[in-house]
Amino acid sequence: MTDEVRPTTTDAGIPAASDEFSLTVGPNGPALLQDHYLIQKMAQFNRERVPERVVHANGGGAHGFFQTTEDVTELTRADLFRPGERTDMFARFSTVAGESGTPDTWRDPRGFALKFYTRHGNYDMVGNNTPIFFVRDAQKFQDFIHSQKRRADTHFRDHNMQWDFWTLSPESAHMVTWLMGDRGIPRTWRQMNGYSSHTYLWENAGGERHWVKYHFKTDLGVAHLTQDEGDLLAGTDGDYHKRDLANAIRKGEDPSWTLYVQAMPYEDAADYRFNPFDLTKVWPHGDYPLIKVGRMVLDRNPDNYFAEVEQAAFEPANMVPGIGPSPDKMLLGRLFSYPDTHRYRIGPNYQQLPVNKPRSEVNTYNRDGAMRYENPGDPTYAPNSYGGPRAMPEIYGKDLAWYVEGDEIVRSAYQPHREDNDFVQANTQVNKVLDDAARDRLVSNIVGHVSKGVEEPVLSRVFEYWRSVDKSIGDRVEQGVLRR
Ligand code: NDP
Repeated sequence: MTDEVRPTTTDAGIPAASDEFSLTVGPNGPALLQDHYLIQKMAQFNRERVPERVVHANGGGAHGFFQTTEDVTELTRADLFRPGERTDMFARFSTVAGESGTPDTWRDPRGFALKFYTRHGNYDMVGNNTPIFFVRDAQKFQDFIHSQKRRADTHFRDHNMQWDFWTLSPESAHMVTWLMGDRGIPRTWRQMNGYSSHTYLWENAGGERHWVKYHFKTDLGVAHLTQDEGDLLAGTDGDYHKRDLANAIRKGEDPSWTLYVQAMPYEDAADYRFNPFDLTKVWPHGDYPLIKVGRMVLDRNPDNYFAEVEQAAFEPANMVPGIGPSPDKMLLGRLFSYPDTHRYRIGPNYQQLPVNKPRSEVNTYNRDGAMRYENPGDPTYAPNSYGGPRAMPEIYGKDLAWYVEGDEIVRSAYQPHREDNDFVQANTQVNKVLDDAARDRLVSNIVGHVSKGVEEPVLSRVFEYWRSVDKSIGDRVEQGVLRR
């Protein structure tokens, strides 16, 4: 706030004649088309919204930093993971299926999207608060999301549609077990873990490679809301998670997460007991223990939600030297899908907006397009004889990749590994991770969800789906639903 009185202006900076009255012929009108300022206000208002994200539309975020506290140079040469390196970053948390403005505390996975402004360009991780996902092939993603969003005819959310898709897609069982359990409604964003979910490839300076999965563990400990608590908050404070994060940072209670990775030697993947690239599976900690890497702290609230959060554009294709993709078919689909949605949503030059802009030098031959305000000078083609930039794989390394030999081009499920099964890890979670009280809440959450509109033939499949996860859970779900 300042005492100085400043004139209202048009967007062109011209002092405006009135904040209240349009230009009319006499006090009672008619209104005049020449009222440029009124027309600018109306026209700009009509264009205030960019298309909201098709998924993860409801969210909030904060700025912070990541500090590498350990020495993981044996695993990766990535600049941001050098011992002691501190990298500025931005994080955005979200629900998946709800539109912008839907309650924060609905049962849903949470997005955990991170952008690290490294010396070698932006490194983005588009993770979730779950180490797994509902499907394992990008071909099914759009259908999955349609089943979780609104019906085409009535525009209602429809649990029957959700369970129809899930029970016909048994690979979803592990994730649905997760979603219906305590972690399906985090107490706050500060009290949830984030996972890369996908597997990535890391390479060290000597060219040695490991497959890795990232685990960001909250330093506050994981905590959840019960279904009743979540329902109550949805009606009394839809912005509960956004408000909690902003208030904590405002009070100096900066949330932090410790980053660990699981690292699998490159050669282990071929005959690991589970397909390590299957997004519906974890790597059990007993096989690949967590290795500490560093700490992420969020310490600054955005000043402008639209500019910094709504326009934040994360894309898993942004990988920096030392980090590459894996044959995870969902990841490979997302490498295309994320930048494509940003081009549609906020325009082809979204990477020049302050929240997305790399802090390192950009030397590109891409040019022009809507709303571009930094353009390369000539020459804008390569090769050239005028001193333009050139690719330097001898310094930064080649694309990280894996070997493909003699395979036919097919549309197929992953080749199964010896312990692959859609229900096995869900069963482990139910029986080895949850205690009796957590199992009771799981059953109660499923019964409550299924009882809202799931009908035959989907209903019988729901009971079988849960019996496949665990016989007693399935029986209890059936009894619970039929008793209602
Ligand atoms: P572990 O006993 O080593 O790990 C179990 C993990 O389960 C814990 O580390 C914790 O993850 C997580 N967990 C605790 N409570 C819950 C809950 N209510 N809902 C979901 N997850 C919870 O066993 P394994 O590594 O052999 O995994 C066994 C099962 O645990 C898996 O089938 C999977 O369902 C689940 N799990 C496994 C993870 C992994 O990466 N291996 C990660 C998370 C869950 P955290 O420490 O991240 O809080």
